[in-house]
Amino acid sequence: MASDGDYFGGIEAGGTKFNCIVATGPDDVVHHARIPTTSPQETLAQVIAFFRSCGVLLRAVGIGSFGPVDPDPRSPTFGYITSTPKPGWRNTDFAGAIRRALNVPVAFDTDVNAAAYGEYVWGAAQGLHTFIYYTIGTGVGGGGMIAGRLMHGLVHPEMGHVFLPHDRARDPYPGRCPYHGDCFEGLASGPAIAERWGADPQTLPPDHPAWALEADYIALALANTICMLSPQRIILGGGVMEQRFLFPMIRARVQALLNGYIVHEAILARIDEYIVPPALGGRAGVLGAVALARDFC
Ligand code: ZN
Repeated sequence: MASDGDYFGGIEAGGTKFNCIVATGPDDVVHHARIPTTSPQETLAQVIAFFRSCGVLLRAVGIGSFGPVDPDPRSPTFGYITSTPKPGWRNTDFAGAIRRALNVPVAFDTDVNAAAYGEYVWGAAQGLHTFIYYTIGTGVGGGGMIAGRLMHGLVHPEMGHVFLPHDRARDPYPGRCPYHGDCFEGLASGPAIAERWGADPQTLPPDHPAWALEADYIALALANTICMLSPQRIILGGGVMEQRFLFPMIRARVQALLNGYIVHEAILARIDEYIVPPALGGRAGVLGAVALARDFC
């Protein structure tokens, strides 16, 4: 066990729960808590109370947050959850609240960039410089690294809100994104599957047509991503991807869509190692938050 002052706090802030840990890495998690996402006042108070109750001197805290967020350290609203449709959370000074309450440096990024960074440090993206991490679950989002740097730009990527071909004869479902209707998230999130088919996705068997359609949408997004960014690997996490039979379906569709155009053995011959689940599983985001704290504070 590391000594006091070597530990970092990690917060993975999601739309339904906040995962919080005190750790130095995957093999040294000394405290953890799951806190329901209610109002910012209530949830952040519980997060702060958890870290205080651990009695561990923290070197820094890392946050991977649902968004949209402001990840620009030079911005006056750095560390805010900004324009989220989630009720009550617009313009919430998340990083500032944690920094002031715990008196520690705070690293802050999107939930998907945090998960990507966790995979880079301890998981399926070790040794890579350009890769993408998607979460496909309650929402859809993507982050990652380009040339060794976490992806930021004007704000941050919103890979869940790209537009995909939508064959309304095959799939009349209009989509459920409040901004775009049938964007990637609108068509392919867990709640979209549930609404389209009128069933909990986990109850749909692998041969249900829901999954071929889902694999097609995900493969379209991945083919676009491969053409646009040329990632060395794509990691697919999130609740929907716990249906592991989706992986071979998606890989085959990606190969079919690209149609031999990108001549690299990673896609032509070793796609099983190219489109992969997170090596850290469901812990990628919260461990990534710890890694952000360690490396960016
Ligand atoms: Zn959208």
